[in-house]
Amino acid sequence: MPKISDNLVQVRNCIHTCASQARRNPCDITLLAVSKTKPAKDIAAAYHAGQRHFGENYLQEAVEKCDELRDLDVVWHFIGPIQSNKTRAIAEHFAWAHSVDRLKIAHRLSEQRPAHLPPLNVCLQVNIDDEPSKAGCSPTEAHALATAIVALPNLRLRGLMAIPSPRSGRAPFEALAHLQEQINHDSRLKLDTLSMGMSGDLEDAIAAGATIVRVGTAIFGPRATEPG
Ligand SMILES: *Cc1c(COP(=O)(O)O)cnc(C)c1O
Repeated sequence: MPKISDNLVQVRNCIHTCASQARRNPCDITLLAVSKTKPAKDIAAAYHAGQRHFGENYLQEAVEKCDELRDLDVVWHFIGPIQSNKTRAIAEHFAWAHSVDRLKIAHRLSEQRPAHLPPLNVCLQVNIDDEPSKAGCSPTEAHALATAIVALPNLRLRGLMAIPSPRSGRAPFEALAHLQEQINHDSRLKLDTLSMGMSGDLEDAIAAGATIVRVGTAIFGPRATEPG
């Protein structure tokens, strides 16, 4: 099996290539290493190869890894579905939450953010293909939700996040970028983050303007089973 450090070099190279093809500065793209289901030792290996941002989906295993790796200067991002009963632990352990899709969750995260921590960075997850089965707010609700979230004291609304259906090409990424542009016409909002693109669709996401790409498999290898 290739080493995590070798995989990281490959993914970084890929980001550079995609960025230059899109005439973008690679420094404007943050690599988020998605470590869900992977043990703390894999995160430590990536960390020692220079990786700082890690994304987790499942709260319980994530909190265990945060505790285990507390001596490392990791920036933790929560990217999984957020139910009300998870908001406190997310507010306490994470620097970012990418998957906020309703106001109730945003309110709770803001209320529960510990006073000694800086505001929690959040992205509004948008169901950009507008499929009834999928998480995320509808594109038509996004502007109103963004203006409500930006008023919450302990959150810092950074941008939009989406998980388009696999193999749907560049269009959904361009749609998310376009939505963000429209929202930014509102002078109350200055969104600077587009969290989009995974192992299989990095190139399209970067071409459309991704500023955070969330990459799991290409760094840590395939995942076996995932908890519910
Ligand atoms: C698992 C996951 C990823 C990473 O997916 P890969 O295909 O392994 O790169 C990215 N974003 C979210 C929200 C995920 O759940």
